[in-house]
Amino acid sequence: MKTQIPTPDAYQEMREALRDLCGRFDSAYWQQVDGERGYPAAFVDALTQAGWLAAMIPAEYGGSGLGLAEASVVMEEINLSGGNAGACHGQMYNMGTLLRHGSAQQKQQYLPRIASGALRLQTMAVTEPSTGTDTTQLKTTAVKKGDRYVVHGQKVWISRIQHSDLMILLARTTPLAQVKKKSEGMSIFLVDLHHAIGRGMTVRPIRNMVNHETNEVFFDGLEIPAENLIGEEGQGFRYILDGLNAERTLIAAECIGDAYWFVDKARRYASERVVFNRPIGQNQGIAFPIADAYIETEAANLMRFKACSLFDAKQPCGAEANMAKYLAAKASWEAANTCLQTHGGFGFAHEYDVERKFRETRLYQVAPISTNLIYSYVAEHLLGLPRSF
Ligand SMILES: Cc1cc2nc3c(=O)[nH]c(=O)nc-3n(C[C@H](O)[C@H](O)[C@H](O)COP(=O)(O)OP(=O)(O)OC[C@H]3O[C@@H](n4cnc5c(N)ncnc54)[C@H](O)[C@@H]3O)c2cc1C
Repeated sequence: MKTQIPTPDAYQEMREALRDLCGRFDSAYWQQVDGERGYPAAFVDALTQAGWLAAMIPAEYGGSGLGLAEASVVMEEINLSGGNAGACHGQMYNMGTLLRHGSAQQKQQYLPRIASGALRLQTMAVTEPSTGTDTTQLKTTAVKKGDRYVVHGQKVWISRIQHSDLMILLARTTPLAQVKKKSEGMSIFLVDLHHAIGRGMTVRPIRNMVNHETNEVFFDGLEIPAENLIGEEGQGFRYILDGLNAERTLIAAECIGDAYWFVDKARRYASERVVFNRPIGQNQGIAFPIADAYIETEAANLMRFKACSLFDAKQPCGAEANMAKYLAAKASWEAANTCLQTHGGFGFAHEYDVERKFRETRLYQVAPISTNLIYSYVAEHLLGLPRSF
């Protein structure tokens, strides 16, 4: 059978190496991790040891100094292999915040150990239960007292805490009433999780639809050394926004990997499954939705690489990153639906992997940014429509 997936591109050598690595973690491995609600520790270790999670860390800090395009290929290949890059994608983009806005001393202190895998920076705490997407209204405060900041508040949906050593925390350092613009007065901190948990920080796991380790977090007098402030006090929201283009593009690439996986799985099954004495794929009612999913995926992939090339050329890419995330998440979700339908009842069986990846890819309509917020960005910033909030 002709292998159409993925479209040949400039990254074939990398893809081959990644396929060798990912091939060691087969569908039985991912099924077991999902069934146990476990963490794919062996997979993430192998990826780290091979240096892939340090792709975007500059060579001077022990990484490979690759661009977003290459990093996105890593994420895509994991999902294309049947795995779930959501277990470790945080490391790829969280370190960017430290790289762009950390002091020389912070970078020297942390980045080489992040690159080697000795330290994991998998977690970023932004979302709060009472304010949701309206981030500038967040209620968690960090008040400076001598050489420390004291944190009170609450976060929700904070992922990979149990598999991370460090966390980036966004908190308000100047009350909303005292800033000119609501986006000012927030700061970001590097939190040493081993020190923090049990000393003012409490973590409560949230059991959820996917096997995604995510948590409620409570801060009650957590003390963070002032030297763990990243960049300038009050500029944290801007720093977080700076990192979003990379995050969105990497997640778009995961969705592209998922979408190609669903298309491939559907076309194989449609060619093999015989009902009414013919392969079900001979029915256009089955074949056309698979073709449609493939077309949508190819189109989304173009926008993903457009976002990557702009980002790597240090050009503005907010529009492309958002649109890539939107198109890729939509393509993967539609491909997932088609794949499930193509498999009939077997699509619901755990051993076929379809229901697992169906659940996993559904997340990207909501996190890390929901579809409506992308519409809102495009309407306001690209089309000049009136601001809605
Ligand atoms: C599994 C998982 C992992 C996550 N990991 C992290 C993490 O590691 N760190 C972190 O900080 N956050 C994380 N999140 C949070 C995620 O980023 C948010 O769930 C997401 O941004 C949406 O916020 P919300 O859930 O508060 O929804 P809300 O803001 O309550 O919105 C609910 C719905 O209303 C829509 N909506 C809201 N306002 C508008 C508007 N003005 N116009 C149109 N529609 C609107 C939204 O699009 C959404 O569909 C995670 C979430 C999940 C589910």
